[in-house]
Amino acid sequence: MKDLEITYNPGKENEYKATRGVSMDIYPGEFVAFFGPSGCGKSTLFYNILGILPHSAGTMLVKGENPYSFSSEEMVRFQTKTIGIIYQAFYLIPSLSVIDNIALPLIFHGMSPEKRKKKAMQLLKRFDIDVHAEKYPENLSGGQSQRVSVARSLVNNPEIILADEPTGNLDSVSTKQVMDALDEINSVDKKTVIIITHNAAQLIHAHRVFYMRDGKLMRVVPNPEKKQIAKIDKQKILVTEMERLSKLFPYLSPVELKVKSIVNYLTQDLDFDQLQKLESLTQLVVERKINQNEYSRNLSQKFSDGGVGVSKELAEVMSDKVDKILKQSEDARRFRRRYLQNNFFSRENILINKLSKYIGEECRHKFPAVAHRRLKELVYNRISGLIKKEDFLKNMRTPLAEGGVGFNWLEAEELTKYFEKLLIQSVEDEAAGH
Ligand code: ADP
Repeated sequence: MKDLEITYNPGKENEYKATRGVSMDIYPGEFVAFFGPSGCGKSTLFYNILGILPHSAGTMLVKGENPYSFSSEEMVRFQTKTIGIIYQAFYLIPSLSVIDNIALPLIFHGMSPEKRKKKAMQLLKRFDIDVHAEKYPENLSGGQSQRVSVARSLVNNPEIILADEPTGNLDSVSTKQVMDALDEINSVDKKTVIIITHNAAQLIHAHRVFYMRDGKLMRVVPNPEKKQIAKIDKQKILVTEMERLSKLFPYLSPVELKVKSIVNYLTQDLDFDQLQKLESLTQLVVERKINQNEYSRNLSQKFSDGGVGVSKELAEVMSDKVDKILKQSEDARRFRRRYLQNNFFSRENILINKLSKYIGEECRHKFPAVAHRRLKELVYNRISGLIKKEDFLKNMRTPLAEGGVGFNWLEAEELTKYFEKLLIQSVEDEAAGH
């Protein structure tokens, strides 16, 4: 897309410019998310890509071609062979069985009925819904319906999958199944996946996130946890999450970056509006302007009353976590300060001991003295910037017999993540956000 502008009801009294000056490239094999509050123009872009909502200015090309120049035959081919669609409301045809719903799009390519059924059945099996093949859509749960529409979107083997809030109507278990299916379609089948969402928890699946607001693309953020397909300026090795975040959000202050880090740690299933409230509230606590109790109270206050609207229990867990991280990070901050001043005296050892102990407490089971010793060494190396996060993690899960700390895979991930959270909060505000 280049300088894309899409106008509803052009030339009429109720003319409305839904997107303005949107430019972006999406690469083959990428998983991207359009993210932003309701009404920001996500679906508008979606329909434009699909070839059913022409733009009023700018350029939009799919595989180098402008769908709005297609003849009607070319358009059918494009909308079946190039793009597969998944809608929030499923749009299965109620009078057709599940298997016929999936087989239907194959009709347009003149395939025999037996072949169509066979192909549909393969997809049903793949998404674990083959037992429902002969049922009608009204007899399926939301999660099953959405897996049927995922299967349907793939039946013509298209190169691009467009999914408009695919989990908007689903519970958390079905949401996970559908997101895992999309992940697999992207990573195994190598399809390009474009998903519209306002659920922040789903952004982890995307290579890049396109943040939208008021019809504009505000920023593009690569996911540091995913190997990028798009060409991203690979800066020099970034030691802490803080440095990494400051590259992603160059205009944010160090405090705002710390807030991002904590909010990212706390969020499970919050929507965009709740997330924004959570960020402003967390900023107050990171800047020590409110205390733990006030933070917890505001977290559980109803959204309509200015709170974030999470349950009381969750609010307490969240505020405890933040409190603990902020307190423990003080020791990491002291260590860093001494280290930077080349002040290697005995206290340094005490601080490393304390920091290792904090990690140990997160682990909740006893581990042998040799593991403790290695953990301390790792903590020292990491906080001094001698090793990267990946090296820390690797050593955490290397077995004791092979010279590692010997945590299992899951523990190692969790504890590493936790320690990185301490590290980022320990960075001095003045020194960080270049
Ligand atoms: P999102 O998908 O991010 O929720 P949309 O793309 O649906 O947002 O809508 C973007 C803006 O365009 C909104 O302000 C919406 O009211 C407006 N809009 C959407 N569809 C139409 C339409 N058919 N006619 C006029 N305005 C529309």
